[in-house]
Amino acid sequence: TKKTTTAKKAAPAPAAEGFALDVSVEQFKESIVRNLNTTLGTDAEKASDKAWWGATAAAVNELVFSRLSQTQKTHLNKDTRAVHYLSLEFLMGRLMGNNLQSLGLFENAAQALKELGHEITDLAEEEPDMALGNGGLGRLAACFIDSLASLNYPAIGYGIHYEHGLFRQTIQQGRQIERPDSWREYGNPWEICRPESTQEVPLFGYVETVFENDGSLRKVWHPGSVIKGVPWDIPIVGYKGTTVNILRLWESRASEFFDWDAFNAGAYKDAQGEQNLAETVSKVLYPNDETEAGKQLRLVQQYFFCACSLKDIMRRYKRAHGDDFSKYAEQIVIQLNDTHPTVAIPELMRVFMDEEGLNWEDAWAICQQSFAYTNHTLLPEALEKWPVYLFERVLPRHLEIIYEINRRFLDEVEAQWPGDDAKKIKLSLIEEGAQRMIRMGNLCVVGSYKVNGVAAVHSELVKADLFPEFYEMWPEKFVNVTNGVTPRRWLKACNPRLSSLISDTIGSDWPGQLDKLVALKPYADKAAFQKKYMQAKRENKLELVNTIRELTGVEVSPDAIFDVLIKRLHEYKRQHLNLLHILALYRRLLENPNMDFHPMVFLFGAKAAPGYKLAKEIIFAINKVADRINNDPRIKDKLKVVFLPNYRVSLAEKLIPAADLSEQISTAGYEASGTGNMKMALNGALTMGTMDGANIEIAEEAGEENMFIFGLSVDEVKETKAKGYNPWDYYYGNPEIKAVLDWLDTDYFTPGEPGALSAIKRSLLDGGDPYLVLADFESYSEAHKRANEMYKDQKAWAKSAILNTAQMGKFTSDRSIEDYVDRIWSLKKCDVK
Ligand code: PLP
Repeated sequence: TKKTTTAKKAAPAPAAEGFALDVSVEQFKESIVRNLNTTLGTDAEKASDKAWWGATAAAVNELVFSRLSQTQKTHLNKDTRAVHYLSLEFLMGRLMGNNLQSLGLFENAAQALKELGHEITDLAEEEPDMALGNGGLGRLAACFIDSLASLNYPAIGYGIHYEHGLFRQTIQQGRQIERPDSWREYGNPWEICRPESTQEVPLFGYVETVFENDGSLRKVWHPGSVIKGVPWDIPIVGYKGTTVNILRLWESRASEFFDWDAFNAGAYKDAQGEQNLAETVSKVLYPNDETEAGKQLRLVQQYFFCACSLKDIMRRYKRAHGDDFSKYAEQIVIQLNDTHPTVAIPELMRVFMDEEGLNWEDAWAICQQSFAYTNHTLLPEALEKWPVYLFERVLPRHLEIIYEINRRFLDEVEAQWPGDDAKKIKLSLIEEGAQRMIRMGNLCVVGSYKVNGVAAVHSELVKADLFPEFYEMWPEKFVNVTNGVTPRRWLKACNPRLSSLISDTIGSDWPGQLDKLVALKPYADKAAFQKKYMQAKRENKLELVNTIRELTGVEVSPDAIFDVLIKRLHEYKRQHLNLLHILALYRRLLENPNMDFHPMVFLFGAKAAPGYKLAKEIIFAINKVADRINNDPRIKDKLKVVFLPNYRVSLAEKLIPAADLSEQISTAGYEASGTGNMKMALNGALTMGTMDGANIEIAEEAGEENMFIFGLSVDEVKETKAKGYNPWDYYYGNPEIKAVLDWLDTDYFTPGEPGALSAIKRSLLDGGDPYLVLADFESYSEAHKRANEMYKDQKAWAKSAILNTAQMGKFTSDRSIEDYVDRIWSLKKCDVK
């Protein structure tokens, strides 16, 4: 205990930065104390930790806001082309540490606070996470806007200002309980309300066809309801701090406007719900990671933020170009983060035609040159489809526009495949059936000039399996951009020990040029460097030992291998494969307590969608198995299992620097990319992984010999399924599999309640094991044996870990952004003085 306390206190602040602003420790102290008075209305004697954090944030803002104005002025004056990143999710986490790092002032701020009697790491804990996202997709958006600002590209992120972000998870009697997340209950120092840029969004109502005197037709949408969108801006501070872009998040409010036309025309019921609806739209983030059923409110959320954002874009465009839209596509690119913002495509058509008077051809030409679409998943249940009746009710004009897009598109299909009705049925934007549905993925592909997947293998599957005919029609539309992560947050800020060691060894410009990490390669063999590297890892583990104790009461040893599986809970991510293997290890240890085995701590962090029953059963099983194993004296602490509640960005920042093994064990072909895999490899964890998503590219960079690869490949998964996979063969064919599955039916882990954990077994046997858990079990177990064996040779392990860090340069989100710029966005850097 003594040792671990020292470890926490000893956490070094990152080295002072050459690019730092000229703000001395004294000036920082003055600013913090002044803000304690003037912003927080308190003073140094009686201020709470929260107030000290607030005052520090306010001191940071004093430096950031002037740069924000300067950036906006520069972009306006230079009339730059900009990317508009539309995303229903931005999983930002905390901002204080990151903003200070970007300004090069972390050291001085830490010192100023120390002299005022506070530890910056303690105050940082006062900041609630901005959890406006579910997982990978939202965190990717956050990394991308960091990189865009850091690379001095004009960019703006658009999303929703949810009152409640992703739910807070607690564990009671082993089960997940969801509690509301109230991240801004007491305000949020980073955001600025911009009432002057409020927008109005029409909904519901009906469409009138007006016959003009010249014989033409004009469509007039009489909305039944109007809600207001109020923007909140969050400054996004680029690394080294010259560009400060914004993330603009829309909050819904009731509008004063009331459409008497609609009211008189009988849309009374729609109008009545106006107040209610308006207040609900930005209330809460939907907590489903991969799927979201066709709920009206979700569609309204999507339309609300798209309509507000397009109006905002149009306002800015018109300021420079008036009503001349010939430059629109030259100046504006709109990136759709998954299909969630697809409705922006018919909305822009509507604005151009109904509000600006353009004809169809001109409007469509601009749209098709302005939108680009990122596909994030191949899971069929995750491909958004909206019932036609919902569109008809909520967005009647958009439905008409979609029909017309489809009519013209099907003419193209006819031209390509004359007389082939099966093709038309397959590609149509409308799925026929008992309930007619709009296929949002197809609409995205038709309406965008580029479509990208998020890792090489995924982009190939997008072309081959998901959109093969579209690929045949427009091969040049399809590109790959492999995901990345910002090394500022995910190495420099979260792992100060390793960061300092790297900077001391190869210089300090790696956070902006991650390729420079290759300079570490020659050190991988050097005993002195290995020692320092492993020492940093050990101290990070010691710190995590404390966190684990505080959060769960479980005592673990830093000498054990820390095996980390952190991500949303989903069958395809296969947390239950890990669990079955833990049961197998436990069983082997019970049979042979003296088995040659380096002790392991299995760490889990995962939220399950509240309605996803099996996912919640898996969390329950992990917790019950953990209870039993952690309290079994027979295995002499060789195995510990910990489920850390409420996995989120700030917890990831503690787990990732302490990981020895990174579990990336999805069924091949199901994880589009993964980004947690990159973060852990960068921080020196060895990957235990399948050949899926970006794992494949991590293996190319790090070398397969520095990872533990197992399981069926993408092609083998397809073959296995095609042949008719039968999980019972594995159950009867492998006694260990049978034993651990049967164990779940007993009351060994749930005394007095036999069968409480049977749901997993049932899904794997009766349910057909759709994600091939049993097929990969043996290979996974073998890979774990290799890992356990290798860990005993600390030099070999250190070498591999160093080689992982050294060769992760590709996975900086700066590289992803440069790929987007080259392949899709054609942006120019814009220096801000
Ligand atoms: N949730 C958080 C808090 C993350 O930081 C990340 C990515 O690192 C994810 C979810 C996505 O993880 P994965 O790519 O492993 O699914």
